[in-house]
Amino acid sequence: MKWFRNFMYGRYGADQLGNFLFVFYIILAILSFVYPPIMILCYATIIYSLFRMFSKQYYKRRAENEWYLNKTEGIRKFFNRQKNQWKYRKTHKYLKCPHCKQYLRVPKGKGDITVTCPKCHQQFDQRT
Ligand SMILES: [Zn+2]
Repeated sequence: MKWFRNFMYGRYGADQLGNFLFVFYIILAILSFVYPPIMILCYATIIYSLFRMFSKQYYKRRAENEWYLNKTEGIRKFFNRQKNQWKYRKTHKYLKCPHCKQYLRVPKGKGDITVTCPKCHQQFDQRT
């Protein structure tokens, strides 16, 4: 694999946008069974991700990735929250601050508690 390491030397490789493109490619590939012309988009996606991986223009690729992370910040946070909510479902309750809409996590099973929002410092009562 030495040749491969040499080949990849100085090239950009994988990043979050690259991972997304890969998933996107799989979705397109599945869709193309239903509607074959989508195959063109499949090829375009593969060519673009390969181009990014083997690119030597770090700066540009990183800017693309940054753009992608920026655009998807809301949705990634949402999924992260779902994941955590599920993970801690037995011990914690997730709620939204009624004043500033900040998401909060409080311990479950403590009865009625007064929550102080860490962001806006307003207090509100909550049954846990
Ligand atoms: Zn608040």
